[in-house]
Amino acid sequence: MTTSREIRLKSRPVGLPSADNFELATVELAAPGPGEVQVRNSWMTVDPYMRGRMNDVKSYTPPFALGQVLQGGAVGQVTASNDPSLKVGDLVQSGFGWREAFNAPAGQVTKLPDTNLPIQAFLGVAGMPGLTAYAGLLRVAALKPGDVVFVSAASGAVGSLVCQIAKIKGHKVIGSAGGAEKIRFLKEELGVDEAIDYKAEPDLTAALARVAPEGIDVYFENVGGAHLEAALNAANPFARFALCGMISQYNNTAPAVGPTNMVLCVGKSLKLEGFIVSNHWDMMGDFVSDLTSWHQAGKISWKETVKEGIEKAPEAFLGLFSGENFGKMLVRL
Ligand code: NDP
Repeated sequence: MTTSREIRLKSRPVGLPSADNFELATVELAAPGPGEVQVRNSWMTVDPYMRGRMNDVKSYTPPFALGQVLQGGAVGQVTASNDPSLKVGDLVQSGFGWREAFNAPAGQVTKLPDTNLPIQAFLGVAGMPGLTAYAGLLRVAALKPGDVVFVSAASGAVGSLVCQIAKIKGHKVIGSAGGAEKIRFLKEELGVDEAIDYKAEPDLTAALARVAPEGIDVYFENVGGAHLEAALNAANPFARFALCGMISQYNNTAPAVGPTNMVLCVGKSLKLEGFIVSNHWDMMGDFVSDLTSWHQAGKISWKETVKEGIEKAPEAFLGLFSGENFGKMLVRL
């Protein structure tokens, strides 16, 4: 028997989640059955979309079940195998996060490619958040030469890669984030042209007018609310908005007041398109190939904020909503 600790959803959060919504439990794992493997997770991810799965509502992913272990991305090592496709020691990725170890059919885990990247990169820059940035900017927003690009939550896992891809392709990039240290990171490490500290300068329309007097052509939306309203004000005719997320609204207990200026979409002929990364897996090959060459050329950097131990996973998740993370928020198990 192998002992594994896991995090379960104890109660559904109302508004901002708290530690009380989660519970730590211990389970015993038998040896893997026929066709199964046993995996010891090394890293798990926490992501903003998980907040939506904590509500009992129909969405593009089913809600988490009360009293059951949560789910999410993880990478780890095969510790026992009862299937010829995987052997002990293989490094694998799965959707069995929020737990230290698990048994699963071999077909439900994916062997990691042999690269020089640290394995946790497959939960961030080289994984789902990375592809989100790539597909959202290049396909959904259809980036084209000369575009001025505005990115919100620009120092985060998705936003920081959006900024860097747009810079690699030669664009003027404006990032917004909360706090002086993140602004320094955006300017000095990611090389964005302008950075707005939305906490210090809440009038985002004025801030955008100051740093982008020529207007914006692409908005990569991660935050919603006042950011969206300001981006609509700053948009040039035929600007494209890739609506990736609206984290400022995930904990709302009452319907959000929408941007008051949606009518601008008409006169400016704007295109606002929401997207979910899972509808763009076909771009994974191109993404990995581009990311590898950018990485080898020293053009991409990324940051991680790491919490230690499964018991810290709820704290890591909650930290996403206060901007505690710099780049990808991860838990080392
Ligand atoms: P991040 O690494 O960007 O972490 C979240 C960040 O959001 C925080 O660090 C914080 O940064 C910012 N934030 C939190 N609350 C607020 C608020 N009230 N107002 C403004 N900013 C806030 O997370 P990800 O990169 O994983 O995700 C970024 C966005 O992309 C999210 O909206 C997420 O839901 C979305 N997403 C969408 C996907 C899709 O398929 N459409 C896939 C993956 C992610 P700061 O300190 O700057 O405030």
